[in-house]
Amino acid sequence: MSTGYLYEPLPDVDSGLRLHLNENTDGCSPAVLAAVARVTRQQLAAYPSYSSATEAVARHLGVGADQVLLTNGLDEGILTIALALVPRGDPGRVVVVEPAYGMYGPSARLAGADVVSADANPDLSFSRAAYEAALSADTRLVMLSNPNNPAGYVIPDGTLVDLALELGPDRFLFVDEAYADFAGNSVIASLDRCPNLLVGRTFAKAYGLAGMRIGCVLASPEVIRRLRGAIAPFSVNVFAVAALEAALADRAHLDWYLAQVREARAYLCAAFDRLGLSYWPSAANFVLVRVGDAPRIRAALAGRGVHVRDRSSAPGCAGSIRITVGRVEDARACVAALEEVL
Ligand SMILES: *Cc1c(COP(=O)(O)O)cnc(C)c1O
Repeated sequence: MSTGYLYEPLPDVDSGLRLHLNENTDGCSPAVLAAVARVTRQQLAAYPSYSSATEAVARHLGVGADQVLLTNGLDEGILTIALALVPRGDPGRVVVVEPAYGMYGPSARLAGADVVSADANPDLSFSRAAYEAALSADTRLVMLSNPNNPAGYVIPDGTLVDLALELGPDRFLFVDEAYADFAGNSVIASLDRCPNLLVGRTFAKAYGLAGMRIGCVLASPEVIRRLRGAIAPFSVNVFAVAALEAALADRAHLDWYLAQVREARAYLCAAFDRLGLSYWPSAANFVLVRVGDAPRIRAALAGRGVHVRDRSSAPGCAGSIRITVGRVEDARACVAALEEVL
């Protein structure tokens, strides 16, 4: 893989049911649009101020404001982490826990690191043995997502804290919690105990702000200072700042959406059981399901206006597609299309 290749380009889809990128299928809170409309000409003319939104995120997640870095989507946070924590001149190794989100390896390579994968067990669960084997004395950083994308499994928080403590002070652990809103788990409460721990959150998924590009990284104040040295000072724009504060304030919209996803996920899994399809139990807003001829099923679903992600080329995911879980009505439409194409 070349160094600069950051993401598999996906076909543009502007109609139909988008179940291929784990977006919020309902949309963001209406309060977000109102807040964006209130942004003034003067605010647009000025470089953005982040204090208020940073404090809102810190309160929301239970950390200090000096433990928060707002980023232009969590993708920018991932690249920033790699650039800040892989030392130039002596880059060493970055360990990526598989199956992995597509940004980890390319970001680490851009930072100059040697990327080594810690492969999953054959059932795609976390392999402690493969993880230990991938570590080296010159490992700078370990990257993983919890819940995992695309398998949807959760590594217990206690295990992750053990991993961070075992890595010791000079090797960092990045836990990508892009889907933690759906699962309800988090290692944020252990940040103070583990100075080498970083947590990533995004407002793209549960909060429906993927198009706004807003995420954050949480870590110790010292690590946050290091990250600031590797990111442009105004990478988050004024609309994103206004949107974020409004989204955090609308707890009811979030709770409603999380309940929809729980119900829709149960509906989808019951349909997979009925159709005899095997799937990975997921704590997130997507389910990886084995359909056999995944490219054909993906194309046939797309022909019916339902867009899903073919993951069959990912390690351990042969024959599988990943379907986003959104509102219950979207799950019903998806199952109806799936029954036709199978
Ligand atoms: C979607 C996703 C991200 C990216 O989030 P953005 O805020 O949209 O950049 C990061 N990590 C994982 C695991 C994701 O699935």
